[in-house]
Amino acid sequence: MKAMVLHQIAPIETAPLKLEEVPIPESQVDEILVKVGACGVCRTDLHVIEGDLKREKLPIIPGHQVVGKVVKEGNKFKKGDRIGIAWLRHTCQSCFYCEHGKENLCESSRYTGYHRDGGYAEYAVVPEEYAYHIPEGFSDAEATPLLCGGIVGYRAYKRADVPLGGKLGIYGFGSSAHIIFQIAKYQGCEVFVATRDPRHQAFAKEMGADWVGAGDSILPTPVDSIIIFAPAGNLVPIALRSLKPGGIVVNAGIHMSNIPQMSYEDCLFHEKQLRSVESNTRIDGQEFLALAEEIPIKPHITLFPLEKANEALLKVKQNAIQGTAVLIP
Ligand SMILES: [Zn+2]
Ligand SMILES: [Zn+2]
Repeated sequence: MKAMVLHQIAPIETAPLKLEEVPIPESQVDEILVKVGACGVCRTDLHVIEGDLKREKLPIIPGHQVVGKVVKEGNKFKKGDRIGIAWLRHTCQSCFYCEHGKENLCESSRYTGYHRDGGYAEYAVVPEEYAYHIPEGFSDAEATPLLCGGIVGYRAYKRADVPLGGKLGIYGFGSSAHIIFQIAKYQGCEVFVATRDPRHQAFAKEMGADWVGAGDSILPTPVDSIIIFAPAGNLVPIALRSLKPGGIVVNAGIHMSNIPQMSYEDCLFHEKQLRSVESNTRIDGQEFLALAEEIPIKPHITLFPLEKANEALLKVKQNAIQGTAVLIP
């Protein structure tokens, strides 16, 4: 099969993913084999490729927003079923976190396109207990951003505890943000978007944001909750200053640059809270996909052929994509 393979950590500008002919992966016990219809590009893929995350498997086929049809069935999913493969693909089910409904914190968790090959390829395998049924009404390509930007973004949204009809701030307006924005609007929130790139500012306005400003703005009015999608630590004190007393800031990313020193009184006093998000539980995934169908969420996508994965990732790095870049094998 065709796949885009990473052999060495390198900046995306050097086009480190190579188009190669590799064997179709073999499904192990409890796994299903899927013919990939589309694979969404996530900023985390960029962090894996450029070495912002600890190096795990190399060579690796990245990609953890995979939608495809089952070609080798298991017990739960049958041949021809349309399923999604997301970032989380294994947890131990016996540690404290797994036993307390927090499998996202499992110390033995394994991730797609990081510990095991992902979906920048024609075929992929996944343990079937970690595969998702994809709701009707989304094409393969449209469904891909739901699987990480959507699911992990949804966990960030839950951790932000935004009251119904409350005020939500969003810093950064990429793939995940444009999906979570739609949930907030559906729940009657006023949404304030601060983002650096003028193209993302225009996109947020077009989508109906109540206010749009520069990426490092203090929001025009204190808000209940803020989600920071941009991987920039300097935004943390700015966001905390934009909160109402008792408000919550959530860092949605897996990687963030260092947070500068900040004033306790301005940033944390008045019971403000700063939270992070790690991955998601499968319950988050199921809840979110049901909600995505109910709203229904409309992901904005830009298609690229699989072999243009380097180009698509470079555009993500340059904030040149509105919504989500999606690879088609
Ligand atoms: Zn565990
Ligand atoms: Zn992701």
